[in-house]
Amino acid sequence: MLGLYLHIPFCGSICHYCNFNRGLFDAALKTRYVDALAREIAAAAQPQTAADSIFFGGGTPSLLSPTEIGRLIETCRQSFALSPDAEVTLEANPETVSRETLAGYRAAGVNRLSYGVQSFDAAELARLGRQHTPDAARRAVFEARHVGFENISLDLMMWLPGQAVESWLASVDALIQVGPDHASLYLLELYPNAPLRDDMARAGWSLAPDEDAASMYLDGLARLDDAGYEHYEISNVSRPGRTSRHNLKYWLDGEWLGFGCGAHSTRSGERWRNVSSTIEYSDRVERGSSVVAERRVLDGDERLEEALFTGLRLTAGLDLSVITARYGIDVWARYGVELQRFIEAGALVHEPGRRLALSRSGMLLANEVMVVFIGQPVR
Ligand code: SF4
Repeated sequence: MLGLYLHIPFCGSICHYCNFNRGLFDAALKTRYVDALAREIAAAAQPQTAADSIFFGGGTPSLLSPTEIGRLIETCRQSFALSPDAEVTLEANPETVSRETLAGYRAAGVNRLSYGVQSFDAAELARLGRQHTPDAARRAVFEARHVGFENISLDLMMWLPGQAVESWLASVDALIQVGPDHASLYLLELYPNAPLRDDMARAGWSLAPDEDAASMYLDGLARLDDAGYEHYEISNVSRPGRTSRHNLKYWLDGEWLGFGCGAHSTRSGERWRNVSSTIEYSDRVERGSSVVAERRVLDGDERLEEALFTGLRLTAGLDLSVITARYGIDVWARYGVELQRFIEAGALVHEPGRRLALSRSGMLLANEVMVVFIGQPVR
């Protein structure tokens, strides 16, 4: 089934590390944009096509009112055969929600919240330029539970400037105490001109050494294991049955339609991307012209590479028989010689004919393993 992604590009302030497609909140532009988004979705309507997830990503989707979110969900429902139990996720920043808005989102059809918490350490949050405090994050989860949300995910970021292994693990412990159903643990990636780089230089904050970053990842996951979470993807853990249905489409070679500025879509072997600018996107929709900036057909090599890259991110690994059925190749016959050294190093696990998966420590070497799949033509 299809996943539907809706991009909401507005933020109350800009975090010091952020390289996403977003801009400062502007009430008039937001109103125009929501109209444009609803029009883009309606124009793409395929009422016979089944979809089972909607994901509001951003930006900060919780800057939209429950009424606006409800309107967009309803437009998706009228435009696609949305399953009754569809997973409907809203990304939210803790400082933007209240008990009332959360109740409104729930009534509008949102059934999963994904909070950008990033850290439970006030100084680390301030360094990142986040607008919430650790207590605000705790309160946001508490209020969401209070109004009936049973599926809540929290994002944490590791390897932050000035962060030691112990402070990272304290955030993991705090997350466990809050008790979300799902958690994503991301490594901070600093793009070349990130203001945080200047802050680091000025304040003398440094990144912990690489071996500490490895400890953060492995020790953090060990604590989550002990707390009953299942590690199912390189950066994601969940309570049993609470994996992200929408994100699994990205990792399981699935298909999705993205709506809004900068959104990507992948369907029937084609990939396309909308224009990035919020204003240009809104203008184009209002004029009735296409919002697609780039479209291309993926060739067999690219589709296979992507299926291998993304599938290997899952702890279950690649189902080799599915790859053979879909792409007509025997993964081991094709790549086995180059992969053997990773098996010997304990980074990869191979069950002939069935499964190829990264071990947990192998996940630290994921990029090196994936290089093996690049540029090897399908035979
Ligand atoms: S809230 Fe998210 S999207 Fe917005 S500036 Fe911060 S990191 Fe970027």
